[in-house]
Amino acid sequence: MNHATPALDNLYMEIILDHYKHPRNRTDLSHLDDSTLHENPSCGDSIKIEVIFNPDGTIRDARHDGHGCAISTASASLLSERLPGKTPAEARQFIAEFIAVLRGEAPPERLDAFGDLAALGGVVKFPLRVKCAALAWHALEKCLEGK
Ligand code: ZN
Repeated sequence: MNHATPALDNLYMEIILDHYKHPRNRTDLSHLDDSTLHENPSCGDSIKIEVIFNPDGTIRDARHDGHGCAISTASASLLSERLPGKTPAEARQFIAEFIAVLRGEAPPERLDAFGDLAALGGVVKFPLRVKCAALAWHALEKCLEGK
């Protein structure tokens, strides 16, 4: 009876492909050394993230650079859109909630509050892709250390 489900999946796929083809906030981060590079060898994804802070300590901008599959690229793009204005503590909470969904510890519906990011909730069904989706988030976690 649930005719909405396939259409919803298509919508989510469209969001992911759009962010893969036109990643938001992607820029050249070759000035960052290789210690900031995060990799997912099982898929070949690699990413760097740079976070710019406002004088009050909130996040002004998050940029990413790298190459990878549609899921890892879209995840970085979607993540970067949601960060401006957050405090480091809020960003850490945000990461924890997203990772909990990816690990199956929280229902995918939790992501509904995060706009287009909900598109990544379907990744839970594909264990091999979970690492792709999580890569940017672990990279961001590293950027927030000590903040
Ligand atoms: Zn991947």
